[in-house]
Amino acid sequence: MSEKIEISDADVRFMEMAAEIAEKNIDRGGGSFGAVIVRGAEVVATGANTVTLSNDPTAHAEVNAIREACRQLGTFSLKDCIVYSSCEPCPMCLSALYWAGVKRIYFGNTKEDADAINFSDGFIYKELEKPRVDRVLPCIHIESEKNIRAFQKWAAKKDKIEY
Ligand SMILES: [Zn+2]
Repeated sequence: MSEKIEISDADVRFMEMAAEIAEKNIDRGGGSFGAVIVRGAEVVATGANTVTLSNDPTAHAEVNAIREACRQLGTFSLKDCIVYSSCEPCPMCLSALYWAGVKRIYFGNTKEDADAINFSDGFIYKELEKPRVDRVLPCIHIESEKNIRAFQKWAAKKDKIEY
């Protein structure tokens, strides 16, 4: 099923906001990426890429915006929120946005545009298609009774908060 989603004037404004954040962030020493998280007509949080500023390889604009939005709303679920990102989310950010449960993502620059300025995430998508042990980053399974125990404890826990 693919339905055509109209792009409103508000969508365009929020995207311009993300673009402005991205551009200003370069002058602060950050990367050229910005994100805005919106609920209804309200901006809940913004984020800019601070990988090099904060020595955090996960500090992409979307991840920073998710963290700030969750702090602002006091929740781990952004199910009523829409994200405007200055660039198509990388696999990490896309996954984080799935985990956050946002309902829609609008993006500006495409991953091909990012690739053209040496921000390439295409190899990660290719890696994910390979068998675990054949990846550049090998993932090796170690069987462990102790790890199973943690899962059993979680499965049996009566008062857990599901997420
Ligand atoms: Zn990312």
